[in-house]
Amino acid sequence: MDALEVDLDTDLDSDTNLRQDMEGPGEECGVFGVWAPDEDVSKLTYFGLYALQHRGQEAAGIAVSDGTDVVVYKELGLVSQVFDEPTLRSLQGGLAIGHTRYSTTGSSSWQNAQPSFRQTGAGSGLALGHNGNLTNTGELARMVASGTDTRDAMRSTTDSDLITSLIAAGATVDSTLAASALEVLPLLRGAFSLTFMDETTLYAARDRHGVRPLVLGRLERGWVVASETAALDIVGASFVREVEPGELLTIDEHGVRSARFGVPDPKGCLFEYVYLARPDTTIAGRSVHATRVEVGRRLAREAPAVADLVMPVPQSGGPAAIGYAEASGIPYGEGLVKNAYVGRTFIQPSQTIRELGIRLKLNPLREVIRGKRLVVVDDSIVRGNTQRALVRMLREAGALEVHVRISSPPVSWPCFYGIDFAQRAELIASGLSVEEIRRAIGADSLAYVSLAGLVAASEQPASRLCSACFTGEYPIALPAENVLGKHLLEGVQTDLLTDLSTDIQEHSPVVHDGQQAGEDELLVRP
Ligand code: SF4
Repeated sequence: MDALEVDLDTDLDSDTNLRQDMEGPGEECGVFGVWAPDEDVSKLTYFGLYALQHRGQEAAGIAVSDGTDVVVYKELGLVSQVFDEPTLRSLQGGLAIGHTRYSTTGSSSWQNAQPSFRQTGAGSGLALGHNGNLTNTGELARMVASGTDTRDAMRSTTDSDLITSLIAAGATVDSTLAASALEVLPLLRGAFSLTFMDETTLYAARDRHGVRPLVLGRLERGWVVASETAALDIVGASFVREVEPGELLTIDEHGVRSARFGVPDPKGCLFEYVYLARPDTTIAGRSVHATRVEVGRRLAREAPAVADLVMPVPQSGGPAAIGYAEASGIPYGEGLVKNAYVGRTFIQPSQTIRELGIRLKLNPLREVIRGKRLVVVDDSIVRGNTQRALVRMLREAGALEVHVRISSPPVSWPCFYGIDFAQRAELIASGLSVEEIRRAIGADSLAYVSLAGLVAASEQPASRLCSACFTGEYPIALPAENVLGKHLLEGVQTDLLTDLSTDIQEHSPVVHDGQQAGEDELLVRP
């Protein structure tokens, strides 16, 4: 391992249940970390997580250290449900990490909430938060199981737990946590943006493809790392730079040090620009909001419509609708009001409530819609159920015509790098043409922005982006066992140790042609 140590100090000195009934891409996770001994780090982390709540609503957790002990507090629920003033007051220390979880691997349970925690071989604590999804979890589970403490393997149902176990096991009296991380991180395949900590030091690491975002910020008296720049803003940290793909940052009283554990091969997630990231976040120097507006402009030029009003599907369709209206000259207006928090509730809806479907989430403004030919701009179509219900609702509200415009290309392939779209068989675009989808959702016309248009709007070179959910060209190799989906580890848990002989193949990058062995399940057309 070539670990290139660079001292940066010089430079730097200058709803679950209800939500599952409502279609859409499942968000991923948000990670946050702060090293600031003179600040109330648990409250800074709390607000950082608040800014990242959109990335995961199933569980939240904070780990904090006072220099002697690492304490973890985590629970199922929203950040505001998990933490209150007394809890945060009890989490005192000089550094902390936090996590908001959406389960892309493993089920939604307290045990799988993060930060995950292990005691290291040296007897110190290790807490870790992970955004992303690994593609070699079977291999890593076998490595953990073959280690000294196989109980770790049995209690882990997430790839994040496996990372924690491996790094903790390698940190001994003879080897530091950083040295262990530099041994383990190159073994991980797939997407990971990590924050982790022991009693004195904060770490941040990003996979060599940089699939998920991770940024470094500076406080007056400390440092912050976070999934999105919006989380730096909320705690008053200034943006310093992105954590580079293949880089491990070590942050302590000596400042920030950088080490490389992998050759950078950037493949940033294109879908972050479409839907996942907050509009007020900047990724790779490009504003997410500006990208979405520009996509809307391009969409208007690529797929014009004769209409009276351009309206967004709130909230993520908003910026693209503004761009569409601007480029088309058709007036922009709000025709739908979002019931913002209903999708985040943990209250199990009754069948009567459930049958209200989209009406739980969106309510039409009839006086705006009645008698109009509408262009309705949404960010993506996953299964098509939402759009079908939406078109029907708009017609019932008096729309004369409904022209649906989508600010991403058709989502035809599942994501294995941390976004929970659906199985391929559930993706409407995997089996139907655009015209067939139009008929299925009942729109007068339907058009998606082109991939070239979306990439151009992001201002990133296509070679530095992952667009696999649109193209099926996966930039990071996928092991065949991914067909088991996000519950992979749970599925093999009971026989993990005897099943270690199960094949782990060397996989070359996958370009899907519908013939890949072991993918039959995913290729069943709807
Ligand atoms: S497959 Fe799609 S959602 Fe997943 S990382 Fe690639 S672009 Fe992002």
